Amino acid sequence: MKQITHWIDDGRVAGTSGRQGPVFNPATGAQTAVVDLASAAELDAAAESAAGAFPAWRATSLSARSEILFRFRDLVDSHRQDIARLITAEHGKVLSDALGEVARGLENVEFACGVPHLLKGGFSEQVSREVDVYSIRQPLGVVAGITPFNFPAMVPMWMFSNAIACGDCFILKPSEKDPSASLLFAELWHEAGLPAGVFSVVNGDREAVNRILEHPGIAAVSFVGSTPIARHVYETGTRNGKRVQALGGAKNHMVVLPDADVDMAADAAVSAGYGSAGERCMAVSAVVAVGDVADRLVDAIARRIPSVTIGPGDDPDSQMGPLVTREHRDRVASYLDDAALGGARVVVDGRSQSFEGDGFFLGASLVDSVTPGTRVYDDEIFGPVLSVVRVATYEDAVRLVNDSPYGNGVAIFTRDGGAARRFQFEVQAGMVGVNVAIPVPVAYYSFGGWKASLFGDTHMYGPDGIHFYTRTKVVTSRWPDPSTSRVDLGFPQNS
Ligand code: NAD
Repeated sequence: MKQITHWIDDGRVAGTSGRQGPVFNPATGAQTAVVDLASAAELDAAAESAAGAFPAWRATSLSARSEILFRFRDLVDSHRQDIARLITAEHGKVLSDALGEVARGLENVEFACGVPHLLKGGFSEQVSREVDVYSIRQPLGVVAGITPFNFPAMVPMWMFSNAIACGDCFILKPSEKDPSASLLFAELWHEAGLPAGVFSVVNGDREAVNRILEHPGIAAVSFVGSTPIARHVYETGTRNGKRVQALGGAKNHMVVLPDADVDMAADAAVSAGYGSAGERCMAVSAVVAVGDVADRLVDAIARRIPSVTIGPGDDPDSQMGPLVTREHRDRVASYLDDAALGGARVVVDGRSQSFEGDGFFLGASLVDSVTPGTRVYDDEIFGPVLSVVRVATYEDAVRLVNDSPYGNGVAIFTRDGGAARRFQFEVQAGMVGVNVAIPVPVAYYSFGGWKASLFGDTHMYGPDGIHFYTRTKVVTSRWPDPSTSRVDLGFPQNS
């Protein structure tokens, strides 16, 4: 069986802990590989290699760094299909979606190629006689990224592109459920000319994560995953003196006002609710139907569900793939029992759809008249279950969204620009879409939620990413003018 190793120093290194985890193809249900799970000692080896590489990497000129980034960008571009195939084989999402993930991740590499511009500081001349003040941004040292299963290529690219561009050495601890894309990235960095130790991959589980959080040589940690683990990473990392940004889970709402284009809103709800089998942190989970739009909207969504083609991700006809594991599929399905018990109406029950083979498939479900205080509303389901919450007014909708403990993404569908503007002003979430269901910011803005969707004060990638992976130094300097100086510098005075 295929063995997925670590990448430490300049090549693949087999694990020595004696622990391994299974990797499945979710479309067939078959185990396809084992992944080595690192011990603390293996994490330490990667940290030592990274610390050894740091002095030379931070001293590498910006243009030389940028050249490597451009080469890496071209390599990722030419390996899009290979990366996407690895994602589909281990995560299950359809190939077109996996290609989309690579494209969105690549934007971050392209952003980081502009590092000479991004690291420019400020300069104030003559703040006092012969005194200038300027700020510079310097790398932190060794930094680590801990990533979730649902974007095994894009989320690592969110992190490592900027960290490496800034002059840091980066250790990636990918999800143990779909770790292969990370090792391909390591090969591509190597081929691009990145020196050994600047990028490492340590596969593992909580043992590797906890060592990262305690390791005295790791200066900062970027995390993306569920809220309980994000909280743990933030609290433990900061207690150990590290800079931490920890992005957590979500429960994203899509508010539909009575004046909205119902067909447009239904198309958006279907693709944002069931795309990637609902396993996106920006997936729409709760559609908030305001006033009399509810019946029309529920009908329009229900009508579209039979045409969502569900099948293996490598079948070009599939629009939605399986869920990541059997346990997760069963947990998602259990919400449908709960929904009926909680007084909601299951309009479309995805469990009634049957699939051949042992893949972790579940059909798309729609649940109407869901209310806060029930499991189906309160929990992050992270699967293809779309809830509809009916409210009477715009104010009720905003109150509902703002009462949610999460605040990742939110969307409003309306034809009224004034209402949309008011919503953007009032709503408590980090990313807002106006007639856009999944408002993931482009790479030159930054990505991050509010409330339990983010622990820390910096969002990820874009300008916040550069800020996170560097620290500022302000230099106050006096250089006496030789023509007026009282100090004898050996120049002829007043000549
Ligand atoms: P997860 O929290 O289970 O795992 C994330 C990472 O933490 C993995 O690398 C995993 O190995 C590690 N981990 C898991 N349990 C741990 C423990 N007890 N101690 C230490 N480390 C541990 O998340 P997941 O299931 O891989 O991903 C799905 C979750 O990620 C969802 O909640 C989703 O909303 C969230 N997510 C959030 C964003 C965002 O930007 N806010 C983006 C993508 C995914």
